[in-house]
Amino acid sequence: MPENAPTILKDRQGGMETPRAPSATERMVKQRQRTAWQADCDSLLAAHPFTGALTRSLDPVPVIDSRLPTLMTDGHHLFANVHFIARLSAKMRRFLLAHAAYHCVGGHFLPTSKPDKHRWTLACEHTVNYLALLERIDIPAQAILYPAQAGKDIVSVYEWLAHHPCPSRDQPLDIHRPDLRLAGSRIAIIDPDFQPHTPDPTVARDWRDLAVTHACQSDMIDQEILTYLLAPVDR
Ligand SMILES: [Zn+2]
Repeated sequence: MPENAPTILKDRQGGMETPRAPSATERMVKQRQRTAWQADCDSLLAAHPFTGALTRSLDPVPVIDSRLPTLMTDGHHLFANVHFIARLSAKMRRFLLAHAAYHCVGGHFLPTSKPDKHRWTLACEHTVNYLALLERIDIPAQAILYPAQAGKDIVSVYEWLAHHPCPSRDQPLDIHRPDLRLAGSRIAIIDPDFQPHTPDPTVARDWRDLAVTHACQSDMIDQEILTYLLAPVDR
């Protein structure tokens, strides 16, 4: 069975209600959003060549699917709910593109062995947003960034978060794989384009190699970015 197989719903009378697919009008909206995101990629590449080059390795896939209210990456695609991204400014869309590419470089689409999944999610958020900071990309006020953990590796951030007085107050801007609404949730629309790949450690290694290659080719890269990229990962 695919990782996100459709869930059959029960209607109010107890009968079976099958989720619908996006309508013809919704499919047109999706196509328009794909074009808009391509323009965002071009703009990011012009202003931030290192990050822009990374985003070129992500296939943007606009979706209309009840399981994905915002956006997420599986290391191959950037799945984005078109109703969510249509409300965003171009600056915010560019930030989220960079954010997703950095998640790929960090291999954050892979499962973690850490017991507290939410704390791990927050540590992932902090480290990718810190990369955005180093790349001088505008970061929205609601993005998670812990000044006391600037430059720290992800495991250090995860351990530091054990002392957070209320971690549930902090929430990511996007969907991280463990948070995806799977079987048991109410699903009204299933988009056949929303087919995340199974997490693959080889893909994570390829992303890191790609990032190091791009960083080495860039004469404007911050040395701290290279240090981050070359640090060992313990997830
Ligand atoms: Zn995120």
